[in-house]
Amino acid sequence: MIACLERFVHENEAESKPDDDVSSISNSLDLQGCIETGGITAVAAKDFGGLYSVKPLALIKPSGAEDIARVVKAASRTSHLTVAARGNGHSINGQAMAGGGLVIDMRSTKENHFKFLKVNGSPYIDVSGGALWEDVLKQCVSGFGLAPRSWTDYLSLTVGGTLSNAGVSGQAFRYGPQTSNVSELEVVTGKGEITVCSETQNPELFFGALGGLGQFGIITRARVKLQQAPDMVRWIRVVYSEFEDYTRDAEFLVTQKQGESFDYVEGFVFANNDDPVNGWPSVPLDQDHDFDPTHLPRTAGSVLYCLEVAFHYRNSDHPSTVDTAVSRLLGRLGFVEGLKFQVDVSYMEFLLRVKRAEEHAKANGIWDNPHPWLNLFVSKSDIVEFDRTVFKTMLKDGIGGPMLIYPLLRSKWDSRTSVALPEGEIFYIVALLRFVPKGPSVEKLVAQNQEIVQWCIKKGLDFKLYLPHYQSKEDWKRHFGNQWTRFVERKASFDPMAILAPGQKIFKRNH
Ligand code: FAD
Repeated sequence: MIACLERFVHENEAESKPDDDVSSISNSLDLQGCIETGGITAVAAKDFGGLYSVKPLALIKPSGAEDIARVVKAASRTSHLTVAARGNGHSINGQAMAGGGLVIDMRSTKENHFKFLKVNGSPYIDVSGGALWEDVLKQCVSGFGLAPRSWTDYLSLTVGGTLSNAGVSGQAFRYGPQTSNVSELEVVTGKGEITVCSETQNPELFFGALGGLGQFGIITRARVKLQQAPDMVRWIRVVYSEFEDYTRDAEFLVTQKQGESFDYVEGFVFANNDDPVNGWPSVPLDQDHDFDPTHLPRTAGSVLYCLEVAFHYRNSDHPSTVDTAVSRLLGRLGFVEGLKFQVDVSYMEFLLRVKRAEEHAKANGIWDNPHPWLNLFVSKSDIVEFDRTVFKTMLKDGIGGPMLIYPLLRSKWDSRTSVALPEGEIFYIVALLRFVPKGPSVEKLVAQNQEIVQWCIKKGLDFKLYLPHYQSKEDWKRHFGNQWTRFVERKASFDPMAILAPGQKIFKRNH
């Protein structure tokens, strides 16, 4: 540790930075973990988006909450230093960066906690805010046959990173987002205080931190609700040519009682052509089946819709029981006959499905391309108009990556959290997950995202950005709407000097 600190001071002296910061911080910190400066901090100036880059003063690898509290307190003793927790850096717009500030690498705390417990007879696991969801999955399933209830599609994301946003996937219609599936957090506030919070203990901090974009504290531990894990998943895709049919069936499935629907409901838009990324080949679930467009009705337009569902079962379930239950559910749906695809996979394989896509994309060299992504929540009341203008017109040729669209239920979200949602009970998540080669097209696509958002505003759509990204306070105010005052009050209570998560560009550091 002393070696680490010496290197820290030494490197900064060698670069002859004018830094009171460096010396005052290194004097006041007595970390169990480590501080890095110089070239090694480059990772903290990058994220998955590949659109922004700002250099930190230092990258801190804490050993736990005490180290993080010391860093935040040290920053508060300066007039200008900020602190950003970096989960796995899978943000798009520099949200986990701190220009000239201190970036905390939460991954260095990934092994902390990992403790199973029962609360009132129900199973939970305590995990670090820096743990990856894929590691939580593996520990829970292999150790205890248990699993969290609500997921994201991709699991190389940290617990603290997704809880600071929401954490949404095809289970959220039933269990709510990940923020609805934790009962307790340990948080280091912007005052450097380590605070345990829950619905009954420091509730304002608990609900503030959930979906709080890292503004009120750094989540160092989360208590995640578990349930029995299934062994197997029947994973099914069916195709629609009409948006109205697609939304009717998707909404039907997400509003059925548990036991009377699928366990996972998602869906995506794809181009009605043979484009390998955005067209027909994006639908089949294995190599053995092709998409046969002759099944499509003549009326099919430029884009089609794929409903993706999954049914959980156990190895002990009789195959005919599974077949009957699945057929009964599919029988209620009006998809295009002949365009149904299904595979049976283990529960782990299903949840790690995007990891396989990542491996392919890495092998093809496209994983590290820039990702000008746009995520929105659009109310059911406006989704037909959104489809008509955005999918059927602006994006009819695809975007070089998935275009997700599936319904969620507002009543499964806790309105006390900091997440901003549209008004209606049913709203759709729309995710434009672009993979584009480096070059001038990136700017054009960022501009197209802007155009979509501006169109939504101009048309007065009931919508919110998910993983929001705005530059001006006015935009943030509009985003939070009538929750803005609460958001500002929470900031004043828990991070009055606006030290935390400067990359979100909501508040300016003050003293
Ligand atoms: P980072 O990018 O490192 O951080 C994000 C923000 O949270 C920053 O402001 C950071 O300061 C703050 N933060 C990080 N850790 C903490 C902490 N412990 N305490 C407080 N604040 C913290 N989202 C979904 O909901 N569903 C999906 O299916 C989904 N799939 C995705 C797939 C891919 C390939 C990618 C790149 C992203 C996906 N996301 C999805 C979005 C993802 O949930 C967010 O980008 C999330 O913030 C990434 O987590 P991270 O650990 O990389 O966080």
